[in-house]
Amino acid sequence: MDEIAQLLKAGRAAQWSAGDKLCEAVKGLPRAERARVFREAAVGAHSTVAYIRVIWQLSHYFAAPHRYEHVAQALYRACIAAARRTKQDPVAVLQTALDRGWHVSEVSALGRAAKTTRTLETRCPDCDAEVRVTMQGEATFPPIPCPVCCAIAWADGGDGREAARLGTLGGEA
Ligand SMILES: [Zn+2]
Repeated sequence: MDEIAQLLKAGRAAQWSAGDKLCEAVKGLPRAERARVFREAAVGAHSTVAYIRVIWQLSHYFAAPHRYEHVAQALYRACIAAARRTKQDPVAVLQTALDRGWHVSEVSALGRAAKTTRTLETRCPDCDAEVRVTMQGEATFPPIPCPVCCAIAWADGGDGREAARLGTLGGEA
C-alpha cells in the first residue's frame, strides 16, 4: 500500500511540475500564442487542451507553498472558479476553505445567488400523508401543521389546532 501511495503522490507532484513548465512556456505570450502552446502540449501528451489548461491554471494560481498533498485537484479548481466570481485571490479562497474545512460544494456555493426557495418534504406521522411544501425566501419557517390533518379536523368540526406539526424546514430545495 505504501508503494501505491508513493506512486500516486509522485503523479500529483509530476502534475504540478508539468504545470510549472507550462507557466514558463506561456509567460508573456499573447492569448492566441498561449492557446497554440496548450494545443501542442495536448497533442504531445495525448491529452486535451482543457486538461492542459487546468494543469497550467493550478500551477499559475497556486505557488509551491499552497500545494498540499491532502487537497484534491477538484478543490483547487473550485477555488479558482469561486475567486473569479467573488473577485478574490484564489489563494485567499483556498485559505478560507481550509480554515473552515469546506468541501468542493461549499466553495462552489461562494459568490452564487443564494437559494430563494425552501422545500419541506415529509410524511405526516399522524395521517401518513406525503406533504411537500415549497416556500419563497431564505427564512427558517416554524413547524407547519399537516394540511391533511387540518382538513380532517375541519371535517370533524374542529379547528385543526391539534394537527400534527411537520418539523422545521431543513430540506433541500
Ligand atoms: Zn397529517
